[in-house]
Amino acid sequence: MGSEKSGFFGEFGGRYSPEVLMPAILELEEVYFKVRSKKRFQKKWEQLQRDYIGRPSRLTYAARLSDEWGAQIYLKREDLNHTGAHKINNAIGQALLALEMGKERIIAETGAGQHGVATATAAAHFGLKCTVYMGSEDVRRQKLNCYRMKLLGAEVIPVTSGTSTLKDATNEAMRDWARNVRNTHYIIGSAIGPHPFPIIVADFQSVIGKESRKQMKKGPGLPHAVIACVGGGSNAIGIFHGFLKDDVDLYGVEAGGRSDDPGENSASITFGEVGYFHGTKSLFIQKEGGQIQGVHSVSAGLDYPGVGPEHAYLAKTGRVKYVRVRDDRALECFQEVSRLEGIIPALESAHALAFARELARDAGKKARILVNLSGRGDKDVAEAASILGME
Ligand SMILES: *Cc1c(COP(=O)(O)O)cnc(C)c1O
Repeated sequence: MGSEKSGFFGEFGGRYSPEVLMPAILELEEVYFKVRSKKRFQKKWEQLQRDYIGRPSRLTYAARLSDEWGAQIYLKREDLNHTGAHKINNAIGQALLALEMGKERIIAETGAGQHGVATATAAAHFGLKCTVYMGSEDVRRQKLNCYRMKLLGAEVIPVTSGTSTLKDATNEAMRDWARNVRNTHYIIGSAIGPHPFPIIVADFQSVIGKESRKQMKKGPGLPHAVIACVGGGSNAIGIFHGFLKDDVDLYGVEAGGRSDDPGENSASITFGEVGYFHGTKSLFIQKEGGQIQGVHSVSAGLDYPGVGPEHAYLAKTGRVKYVRVRDDRALECFQEVSRLEGIIPALESAHALAFARELARDAGKKARILVNLSGRGDKDVAEAASILGME
């Protein structure tokens, strides 16, 4: 884990933000490190986890997958959280921070809309104003999530600059924050961005690792391997934090997309180079000259050209191994897990499951493999039907 003073994880992380954002970032840093150890804050956070999010999330032994794949497969069920994924952990946690700072408005960026929905949900719950920036291309592709956010009382602003997708929405959200620092908190949706965001997001998501370590220990025993998919890296860092000090193999699964060619995947640890983007030093997929490369994944949540700085560090030290799974294998696993377990996984999570299937072959019947099921796949059913030709 990194330095809480500087926000560096080895050479990665830090804070590379425009001057106009500094007052807001420094205020966030001061308030967060002050309140996080306060009993009153922890009590409130625990009560919300239990009564609103529905934690602790279950640990499920996947008997039929275990049979079929040849190892003991356990699923950490973040899909059972309110709104169907791990993102609500961070959204509720950061909304609590907004209240601590006396802010009455929250903003967020969103790609496919999952983080936007989680943030709009938190805003509705606490009676905060909410604005979500979304690339106009994504607004078109994700009509239902767009309507969901509006239903929850959020204002959705389509962004038409650049490629009209996530990175452009992020730029726009940062601009809004700079204009409205006084009354607004910006909830970043993954373990990325300038210090202290990667630490805050990892802290709120580390409940996944804490719970699953306890659940495994009380039940079958600690796992031999833990697997999670990596977009920006929040669900993965959340579960890894529970096992970093154990003799447990950790695997982060990136989106291998259609091929290894530039623009055809979003495997930023495998293909990225050191760079500075969205306020942090980390690994980003870049074109010659340092421009950010357009990326692709069948799952919208993994479709980001970079990765959080702590993952860049964990890759460099070798504590976590990063691998990649392609679109077609994720889609296969999406169907197989639905059929064998009665659980439709998010396409993001299907990447982690597909690697678990591969690892199980070599690990042997007795090996315990824990997979972070980061979300449910209802949101992906229409997309899968259209790709797989089931219409
Ligand atoms: C957003 C999302 C991801 C990827 O984001 P991380 O920050 O890497 O966790 C993975 N799974 C689901 C279900 C998501 O919604």
